[in-house]
Amino acid sequence: MAAHGAAGPATGRAHGARHTAAEFTAVYGTAPAGTWAAPGRVNLIGEFTDYNDGFVMPLALPHTTIAAAAPRPDGVLRLHSGGAGGGIVELRTDAPSRAAGSWAAYPAGVLWALREAGLPVGGADLHYDSTVPTGAGLSSSAALEVATALALNDLYGLGLAPQELARIAQRAENAFVGVPCGIMDQTAAACCTAGHALFLDTRDLNYRHVPFDLAGEGLRLLVVDTRVRHELADGAYAERRAGCELGARALGVRTLRDVPYAQLPVALDRLGHDPGVRSLVRHIVTENHRVEQVVARLDAGDIRGIGPLLTAGHASLRDDFVVSCAELDLAVDTANAAGALGARMTGGGFGGSAVVLVEESAARPVAEAVTAAFAAAGHTAPRIFPAVPSAGARRLADEPTGTAART
Ligand code: ADP
Ligand code: MG
Repeated sequence: MAAHGAAGPATGRAHGARHTAAEFTAVYGTAPAGTWAAPGRVNLIGEFTDYNDGFVMPLALPHTTIAAAAPRPDGVLRLHSGGAGGGIVELRTDAPSRAAGSWAAYPAGVLWALREAGLPVGGADLHYDSTVPTGAGLSSSAALEVATALALNDLYGLGLAPQELARIAQRAENAFVGVPCGIMDQTAAACCTAGHALFLDTRDLNYRHVPFDLAGEGLRLLVVDTRVRHELADGAYAERRAGCELGARALGVRTLRDVPYAQLPVALDRLGHDPGVRSLVRHIVTENHRVEQVVARLDAGDIRGIGPLLTAGHASLRDDFVVSCAELDLAVDTANAAGALGARMTGGGFGGSAVVLVEESAARPVAEAVTAAFAAAGHTAPRIFPAVPSAGARRLADEPTGTAART
């Protein structure tokens, strides 16, 4: 399948450069200057480590947010999204705060962050079309931000590298939207490459593309979207983040990244008086260790060997970090009981999605078992689809109108 064919992944509806450009023209009455895509992601392992300067390992999904865009000379920013409902949001680039509180805060925040960085970015018309499910733990917010950042980067010749675009996008989400997220999602959207997972050190943003050839090994990574929508902006995420900072201070380190795995028993002893902080620290330190173990297995060509590490990661998130929920636990437990190699929740937790590593031949029975278990428990039916490691953000080739879209 071409990266952008006629139909979006798992949606069956038209999604691509040509389609989004035509929508742009319908909204604004003129053709766009180009189209840019940024993907959603799943995190294979390394959860909540990104705001502790630790290791993460996301991969990009074939699901993308496509931005069609044109520059404007008058300092006006206009935003429109097919998925958001409502009409065009219009603001001035020198006063983007009007977007606060709506979906438009994400792209307006990107423009704000670029200007804050002293970059010469002016007005634009932007229209978005997305196949990334929102609020499913698949990082639609980062896809929206990074597609915007890349479009403005090209329209205004800013010359920013992918990691710099990720930083701008994170600043937009932290300081403008008000979500205290780490750097993983934006870096995944900006830097991933097809067929690989991204081993990212969030301390210095150094990364390495680690081969993750699921199909070649006869394996699948299933995403189970529980359909339970999380609210990352609410207190729980910030609370855990604050708890990690407290733990680092109590241990006299800059961040929990600086607690070596071998030192964990000593560190836990020192935190004995505070069971809450203690279990947060245990999750972060063991999770960083699990990422390194997963990388070692993948480098050795042993994808199957990461299964137990995924499941151990889930137990840590459920019991120590306490960010799972009944639906995520049910998805993981049922998948493992039905023959999966391993499974874990992925993303911010409290809903969203799980990932399940399975033999290709077990993909269908495992998916059916999870669907049946959800029905028996009275939960909304989950959406289950394979995570195909896909490309990061890129400008899309202009597809001339009138030609048949590729599939
Ligand atoms: P996640 O990033 O896991 O999908 P978030 O809560 O971080 O969940 O971000 C979801 C929010 O991002 C949506 O509620 C919406 O405001 C915004 N968003 C994401 N994609 C789009 C889009 N294509 N159009 C409009 N808004 C979007
Ligand atoms: Mg998000």
